[in-house]
Amino acid sequence: MATSTDTKTNIPDYEYLDVNTNIFHIDAFRSEWLNRLQPSDFSFQEEDQETSDAHFAAEMGISAETMDELKSACSLDSLRCHPEDQPPDPEVVPPDPTLKTLVQRKKKQDHKATLKSSKNRHDLYADELERLTFGTRPEAVTDMIPEGEIILTMNIYYPATFEKFSHVRPHLTLLMTGSHTLAELRDAICCVSDLQVCGEFSNTPDMAPDFISKDHFKSSFFYFEGVFYNDMRYPECQDISITTIEWARDRNFPPYTQAKMEDTRFVDLKVKVGFPYLYCHQGDCEHLVIITDIRLTHKNDCLDKKLYPLLTHKHRVVTTKCAVCHIYIGRWLTTNDQFAPSNPCTFCEKCFRMLHYDTEGEKLGEFQAFPYVDRGAFN
Ligand SMILES: [Zn+2]
Ligand SMILES: [Zn+2]
Repeated sequence: MATSTDTKTNIPDYEYLDVNTNIFHIDAFRSEWLNRLQPSDFSFQEEDQETSDAHFAAEMGISAETMDELKSACSLDSLRCHPEDQPPDPEVVPPDPTLKTLVQRKKKQDHKATLKSSKNRHDLYADELERLTFGTRPEAVTDMIPEGEIILTMNIYYPATFEKFSHVRPHLTLLMTGSHTLAELRDAICCVSDLQVCGEFSNTPDMAPDFISKDHFKSSFFYFEGVFYNDMRYPECQDISITTIEWARDRNFPPYTQAKMEDTRFVDLKVKVGFPYLYCHQGDCEHLVIITDIRLTHKNDCLDKKLYPLLTHKHRVVTTKCAVCHIYIGRWLTTNDQFAPSNPCTFCEKCFRMLHYDTEGEKLGEFQAFPYVDRGAFN
């Protein structure tokens, strides 16, 4: 895609206030920043303390003496609410705090104490996701993200095909770098419709894993600003955007074009930040894709290339448990099943086999069995 020569168009501004920006070219936007910044502004090198202090003093317009005075007055050592000769307990908030942060913290602690259950491990982990990789540096220099690289925040929303999702829109958030291709984003999106197995397998339950949709229906596309980016990496891939393109052409809509997602890097794209785009796979599983942030990499970011696409948020959905053990997530759904307490009924792999087949693996009784993939399979 050609880079616009009119620099103004590549500086994002609101198209609709607080909703989305106007359209801009991502690599040109990056160049705009790099032209304006000093290399030290986006360098990953840590400044030594003295240089950093000198820069700070110069920026704030204060003398070296004032700087020293501020440093000792604002030092962490002087910030305590415990006797000097005792080790501090960071969990204890003193009674009647006046410091605003402590007031807030006390409120939070008191509220937490009133809750019946504390956070479960999923929620704890969800909060940890981003923190875990903060400031991570790679072991090998070759895995280092180059200075001046772009980081995009991608939100992938789930299709509103379920009644329960009509008020909340669960999504996952991924950080991608500008040199990632759209195909790499496609591979990082986990959606149960890729794992779906179609068919009745009560006579041949061992065959079911061979029929996963992702292996059979590999076509998919992203849609950004008038262009359909098709996945054409495999011989089985079809151009599933052509129907829409031809439909639009016959009705005199503005023309749409096509490209390959594996040949398109994020820096090549022209997009609007905050604007809903589309990811479509498995024929009609449609996800909104919203880019919420595009920025230069900072030295405190995760700088290990291998950890990208970096998952920073993942929604959690309630899972359907096995009707027998109530422990494991359902893997099979049966109908007209004489052994089942309900119709249809879900079973985990183990309970399903024990209840429906003899020790030789022969089917017992009459029932239909369908492989079941729970929406919470990616929790
Ligand atoms: Zn999907
Ligand atoms: Zn079970």
